Order: sequence, then C-alpha cells, then structure tokens
Amino acid sequence: MGFINDFAQKVKETVAGGTQVQKVTCKKCGHEDSAYKLIENYYICPECGYHFRLGAKERLDLVCDKNSFHELFTGLTSIDFLHFPGYYEKLEKARKTTGEEDAVTCGIATIAGNEFAVFVMDSKFIMASMGSVVGEKITRLFEYATEHKMPVVGFTASGGARMQEGVISLMQMAKVSGAVKNHSNAGLLYITVLTDPTTGGVTASFAMQGDIILSEPAALIGFAGRRVVEQTTKSQLPDNFQSAEFLLEHGFVDAIVPRRELRDTLAELLHMHKRSV
Ligand SMILES: [Zn+2]
Repeated sequence: MGFINDFAQKVKETVAGGTQVQKVTCKKCGHEDSAYKLIENYYICPECGYHFRLGAKERLDLVCDKNSFHELFTGLTSIDFLHFPGYYEKLEKARKTTGEEDAVTCGIATIAGNEFAVFVMDSKFIMASMGSVVGEKITRLFEYATEHKMPVVGFTASGGARMQEGVISLMQMAKVSGAVKNHSNAGLLYITVLTDPTTGGVTASFAMQGDIILSEPAALIGFAGRRVVEQTTKSQLPDNFQSAEFLLEHGFVDAIVPRRELRDTLAELLHMHKRSV
C-alpha cells in the first residue's frame, strides 16, 4: 500500500495546496467529494464505484513502482498533412490540457520489481484517437520490447481512428498489429488492460491482440457505436451491450480487475511469465 500513500501525499501537496481543496463530482451518481479523497480511493467514487477516467501520468503513478517509469519515444508530434480545418488548434489545446505530446505515453517501468514495457492511452487527448503518432509510438514500443525481450502491458482507451488524419490513421491498425505479431513470435507476453472507453480501430486491432485481456469494471468496449449496430442489425440490444461485463460473459475479456487490485494482478502475471534466461 506504500505506493498509493506516496501518490496521495504528492497530490495532497499539489492539488490541495494546503488551503484550497478541489471538489470533484461523480458523473454517474452526482456524489461530490474532495479531489484528495477521491485519489486516495484510486479515483473510484466511494458512493457508486464509478472508475473515473485517468490521464497517462495518473495511471502510471497508480500502477508502476515509484520513480521506475522511464519515458521513450518523446518528441513525436502529428502534422496536419490533410489540412483538416481546426486540427492544429485541437492538437494545441489537447497538449495544453494533458501536458502530453499526443494521446499515448510509452516507456519502460517495473511493477513489484518486474520489468516491462508499457503504453498508456489518454482519453483526455482528443478522445485518445489513433493517429500517426499513436501508431508509431506503440509500434516502436513493441519493437523495443522484442529487441530487449520484455513483456508489454498496454492500457487502452480510444474513440477510434483520428479522422483528421484519414487513411494514415487506419493504416496504424495494420502497422501496430505487425509489431505485436513479431513480439508474439519471439515468445513474449502482451497484456492489455481495457479502460473506459476502448472503441473503434483500437478495439479492432491491438486492444484485442493481448495474450491476456483484462478490463476495468463497467468499461465501454466496442467497435461501432450502439445506435449504429442497432440500426444496421435491426435488433434490440441488451442493456449491458458493449460493457466489460458483457464481453467477459462472451469470452472477449479474460478477467475484470477492479482498479485497486490491478497493480497486484499485473505484478503476479508478469512474475508468473518471467523468462528464465
Ligand atoms: Zn458515484
């Protein structure tokens, strides 16, 4: 439990600032609480159990050993090669809001001493849409992990392909999948953790290619949106359609792991699959 206390302490210093405590409201049940209390509770609503969406840094802080994360492949930024109206402004705004260069953060870290390569998608960056930079960074991470014989853990979240980059976005699905396959052929482990929401081209490629697929509770996971599926198939869909729980029942997800158990679960899985060299 040491790491969460360290983390909460850090947030207490930065968020609370000693005097002013920020309030946050649960979007599911409306419960209002201090940001500090929420963070102590792993960003889970104490009333209804809703898992708040996390940025890349919060996720890494919650899961990795303290100060173990070393970021890789920085300095890659998208360009507006299609001259899509407003795209540059959108990128600029997302960079300011998240403090990240694009919608995925990659690097190496340890969990309970187990070394692994990690990517974390950040839904606060243009809904973690997958453009050229997202695809390139994840591809490079798999290539790095293959070369250094490391397992990969990927936290997925995405609204799908980034429409502002057109067909270049779509080709990232094939490019990343190729790198995942080479990593797999080398006998290396890939674990995906699906977080809310994981949809579109990310679901249709590397989110579902993990050897072990975990999910956070109640995460929305799907390809096309519910309304589109209903209209296309002309059928009534169950209420829990495209939820992590529905996918677990139907064999798409191996386990639903509450956030407070995620670190221990990953530590155990990484340890279990450790290669004896
Ligand atoms: Zn709530």
